[in-house]
Amino acid sequence: FPIIRAQTSPDFVPDAKFYKVEAILRPWRIQQVSSALLKMGIRGVTVSDVRGFGAQGGLTERQAGSEFSEDTFVAKVKMEIVVSKDQVEGVIAKIIEEARTGEIGDGKIFLTPISDVIRVRTGERGEKAERMMGGHADMSSALSTS
Ligand code: ATP
Ligand code: GLN
Repeated sequence: FPIIRAQTSPDFVPDAKFYKVEAILRPWRIQQVSSALLKMGIRGVTVSDVRGFGAQGGLTERQAGSEFSEDTFVAKVKMEIVVSKDQVEGVIAKIIEEARTGEIGDGKIFLTPISDVIRVRTGERGEKAERMMGGHADMSSALSTS
């Protein structure tokens, strides 16, 4: 049954050409994740040092401190990667492959539609701005034409 939803509802997810994959991960796994992404042609990545708690709570890596307060946030790294829609699932799969230990505290990935990309140097917008020289799209088109 059709339900009319307001655009402000979280149930309304706009379709987009580009998406931001935001991954909160263990700091010591970042090198492995970013080199794997680079290998697949993902060259635009932003990382920030952050602190947080989830199911892991304030428990530091493999250390049992049971106190749970704001000064026991765990150090994490936030990776933000804007990619075209067709690259989203590949990037997510790669992040999981490289970041997962199977233990509590592996992190989480958030996906957000992005309305536009603008390259400051050239003023390009959309696909032209999102594409990187020698990036994933270039790599796949080189594969399919050779
Ligand atoms: P230019 O060709 O002008 O260098 P560029 O597309 O290579 O443009 P940069 O100016 O090198 O972009 O990017 C600046 C910063 O923006 C990067 O260091 C990175 O943090 C961030 N960034 C660029 N592209 C992306 C992306 N697709 N996803 C996430 N972060 C990005
Ligand atoms: N989608 C871009 C490309 O194929 C790469 C995006 C990125 O590196 N974050 O060139």
